[in-house]
Amino acid sequence: MFSYITFPEGRSKALTMSYDDGREHDKRLVELFNKCGIKGTFHLNSGWMDPELEKMRMEAVKLYEGHEIATHSLTHPTLTRLSDTAIVTEILEDRKNLEKLTGRIVRGHSYPNGAYNENVKQILKSLGIVYARAVSPTDDFEMPEDFLEWHPTCHHSAPDLMEKAKWFCDFDKAQYLKLFYVWGHSYEFDRDSSWNVIEEFCEYMSGHNDIWYATGIEIVDYMTAARGLIWSADGSHVYNPYAMDVWIRRVSSEGPEMGDVIKVPGGKGIIL
Ligand SMILES: [Zn+2]
Repeated sequence: MFSYITFPEGRSKALTMSYDDGREHDKRLVELFNKCGIKGTFHLNSGWMDPELEKMRMEAVKLYEGHEIATHSLTHPTLTRLSDTAIVTEILEDRKNLEKLTGRIVRGHSYPNGAYNENVKQILKSLGIVYARAVSPTDDFEMPEDFLEWHPTCHHSAPDLMEKAKWFCDFDKAQYLKLFYVWGHSYEFDRDSSWNVIEEFCEYMSGHNDIWYATGIEIVDYMTAARGLIWSADGSHVYNPYAMDVWIRRVSSEGPEMGDVIKVPGGKGIIL
């Protein structure tokens, strides 16, 4: 007897959006996400002193409500070219500023200019960053092996974005966990006159009951809890030591069909 971990409420697909640099165009993007019930993570550089950015940061708590605010470094340097001390300053100060601004605990990151190496990853980890998004498209829908090296499915300008969206929405094999991870910068929609691209995508992806719409940190926290379930050797008894509820799907012993979806409440054990 065994069971699969699933996303919340038994879903096996998730969509997350990740946008960098915190320009004023985020306002229009957040409105679109909110209209479509889509969740995003916004990676901000709290050290950039552009007056418009400064003004927007003051409104950031309200603007990004329901979404995640995450670090992108204080001033957007290529981290792999800095001393360790400078890397620490860039990440830790950004984290502190964003936490002060939002009153939330900020643990996500995206690499400025997409640059990272093993040393940068280790420093981020020691500063309480639990995931970091890079920029190389995987062109697939797999969960990452390492959340500190989390490559997206694609940039929103990928020519086959809508083909990917259609494939993802049509995919219905519950034995797989699939994640669609799109990234970009909201100013690109103005620069490239391409708001229609993200509007079409969000409207198409909106309102699917079998898709979990989540921020980056929600996915990391949920997967940490799901992977942290404690199982009896025969799979008949499971204990959830985390505070959040986790869902599993019993696998039928009769054949390839999926069995029931079961909630394992936070802090509780259940017999299957
Ligand atoms: Zn950036």
